[in-house]
Amino acid sequence: MLIPARMSEAEEQRWVSVMLDKLAAQENKRVLGDTELSERAARLSDLYFDGRARPNSVRWVTNQNTRWGSCTPAEGSIRLSHRLQGMPEYVVDYVLVHELAHLLVPGHGPDFWRLLEAYPRTERARGYLEGVVAADRLPHLPAARDE
Ligand SMILES: [Zn+2]
Repeated sequence: MLIPARMSEAEEQRWVSVMLDKLAAQENKRVLGDTELSERAARLSDLYFDGRARPNSVRWVTNQNTRWGSCTPAEGSIRLSHRLQGMPEYVVDYVLVHELAHLLVPGHGPDFWRLLEAYPRTERARGYLEGVVAADRLPHLPAARDE
């Protein structure tokens, strides 16, 4: 983030918080509601699985911190972690496609990954998510002013 030169520290703080608010507002706009999430899942199922995966419910959950997504095939329900909110669309789509595929094939055997090959950004999205997990494990970098 570029900060204009010759700002006092107080001005700078204010400016940074205004910019962060703006960023947060933009990100909030991109978050899909549960209805939109269901519509998106239906579209992805049409595109990649000939519409064969038909979940009864697709929704965000906030109590899922170790998994990006989960599904219960018997109920036809898919849940996505709220931690995906604000991540690139292709990453959210990947997790949706992954959980949709579990409605057709349980487990992570060769049949499962063959299904996922239909989604062209599987590898890229998996790399992104691995990066997020790795970054979470890094020690926090000291702020510039503390040095
Ligand atoms: Zn899985």
